[in-house]
This record gives sequence, structure tokens and C-alpha cells, in this order.
Amino acid sequence: MTTIAVAEGDGIGREVIPAAVAILSTINPDWEWVPVEVGYARWQRTGSALTSGDLAMMKEADAVLFGAITTPPEGEYPSVILQIRKALDLYANLRPVRASGVDLVTVRENTEGLYSGIEWEEEDRACTVRVVSKKGTRRIATRASILARERNGHLTIGHKANVLRSDRLFLSLCTAVAEEYNVPHAARLIDALCLDVLLHPEAYDVIVTTNLFGDILSDVTGYLAGGLGMLPSANLGDRHALFEPVHGSAPDIAGTGRANPIAAILSGAMMLDHLGYPEEADLIEAAIQSVLLAGIRTPDLGGDTDTETFTRAVCRVLQSS
Ligand code: ATP
Repeated sequence: MTTIAVAEGDGIGREVIPAAVAILSTINPDWEWVPVEVGYARWQRTGSALTSGDLAMMKEADAVLFGAITTPPEGEYPSVILQIRKALDLYANLRPVRASGVDLVTVRENTEGLYSGIEWEEEDRACTVRVVSKKGTRRIATRASILARERNGHLTIGHKANVLRSDRLFLSLCTAVAEEYNVPHAARLIDALCLDVLLHPEAYDVIVTTNLFGDILSDVTGYLAGGLGMLPSANLGDRHALFEPVHGSAPDIAGTGRANPIAAILSGAMMLDHLGYPEEADLIEAAIQSVLLAGIRTPDLGGDTDTETFTRAVCRVLQSS
């Protein structure tokens, strides 16, 4: 039986993940959903946001569906999602954006770059080491090249090799891997790319880049989809996979019923695709589109529908399709 570990987390994670589970359950009613409680609320209650037992449950599952974790303002709270990405070696972060005339995926390296965790403070400065390894670059470039080939598309390598020595390595290895996989490719400076992708989104297919650049670029491309409530993502390794909306826990709207569940539902659709159900994933995307076209929208998209009503509307379309 397929087992999915479900970590709702904090804030609107507890509203949008149940929405995604409700939708997925209409498609695969036999899946086993294993709840895993992680996050700030648990940390406040027990002093622990994530345990080795939680990680073991996630590793045993066929996939993880993850909500969002509130990052508290006070100091020494370890980032739960960073710990999970590391423990499950989820090195590729795929952030697709689909909208009218736009169908692109940012493939962000997820384990090193400026998020290497190698940093320290000195008396008059603080330093963070930007790590670009040959192994880390080869595997992200391979993942991105295979994806571009599957899509019959092309690869754009986002970099700053004119300034950063680490990106000279990233660019040369990504170029070599794209050639090895026979994928058409081009290189773009990341700053110019951030503007050009908004001006000419139709010119892009798969974009591979380093950790922080990918984090920023995928929020930029999020504009094309209508905002944070629309953006799903996958975190993939060679043995494990985790799916989560790009947005955070949105404490400002948590509990009000205003959360847009589309990012979480589309993350569930990416999970379906990953587990071998691409047609069902397409059905979910189509159901969301038909509900939006009927004018049923959450407040972030200019409507007045609440999370549960929107979710029920998508379920109804799926049940009748
Ligand atoms: P965190 O500390 O968890 O990162 P945050 O508020 O800093 O939380 P986000 O949760 O990403 O960051 O939210 C940024 C803004 O976007 C907030 O104003 C939030 O209400 C809005 N937002 C995020 N996700 C959604 C959603 N699914 N539906 C509607 N609005 C959203």
C-alpha cells in the first residue's frame, strides 16, 4: 500500500494540507495517510520541533506531503524544513509555474550554495561560505537535463559566473551535463534572467540554478502564476521525495479561512505524478481551472470563497469527471 507521511506544520499548513488530502483521497482512497506532527507549535509544547522518529517515519513513507512551519522571531530555533531536506538528501527543488502562455520549472539546487550552513561571526563582520561542489552540481544538472529532455524542452542555466568563481564551476559543469544529455541549453546571468523571465516567460522551459538564486527566481516567476497561493513545489532526492507549497505558514491569515489551498493541492498533484499517476495529476489541475473559471476564488485571487468551500468545489468537479 502507498504510504504518505503528512506533516501539516503550523499556521495555514493546517488548513491547506487537509484540503490537499481531501482532494487526493477522492482519487486514491486506499492510500495510507500517516500524520507527523512537526513545527513551532510542537516546539512550544514539547521543546522539540522535529525528532529522529519523525524523520524515520518520513523516510519509510513513499512520499511526504508538507505544509509550512512558522519561523519564530526568537533565536536558536533550528529550521525544520532544512533539517528534513538534509536528512532525506532532497537535493532538487522543483518549482513549476503554469499560467496562460507560461510553462516553466525552476530547478533549484537545495543542499549547498549560500545555504551551506558554513558561517560565522567575527568582531567586525559575518561570513557565509558559498559552496558549489562538483558532485552537487552534477546531480542537479542531471536532474534538470533529464526533466528538460522529458518535456522536449530546453535548459537555461542561471548563474553569476562573471563575478563568482563558484558559479564558473556551476556553469561549466551544467553546460557539460546538458551536452551529455543532448539538451538544448543557454546560459543567462541571474539578474538579467529575473527581469527577462517576466518580460518573455514563453522563452523559458527548465531553469537550473544555485540555492539562493533559485529561491529568489522562483518567487519572481510566482508573479506569473498569480502569487504565493498558486505555487507548488517538489523536493526530490534519489530515494525520497517531499511535496510542499512554496508559501509559508502565513500567520497573518491563519484561522480566518482565507488561505488559498491551490499551492498545496498542486503540490499533491506533483506527488501523484511522481508516484506514477500523471493522468490523475492532470485531472486535478483541470478541476482547479474549471472552479477558477466558474469565478470561485479565495480572497488573494480577488474572490470571497473560503478555503473549505473552494476545496469542496474542486472535489465536486473531480467526482463528476
Ligand atoms: P513564515 O514565517 O511561515 O514564512 P510569512 O508570513 O513570513 O510566514 P508567507 O506565509 O509565505 O510568509 O506569507 C507571505 C504573505 O503571503 C502573507 O501576507 C500571507 O498571508 C500571504 N499568503 C501566503 N500563502 C498564502 C495562501 N496560501 N493564501 C493566501 N495568502 C497567502
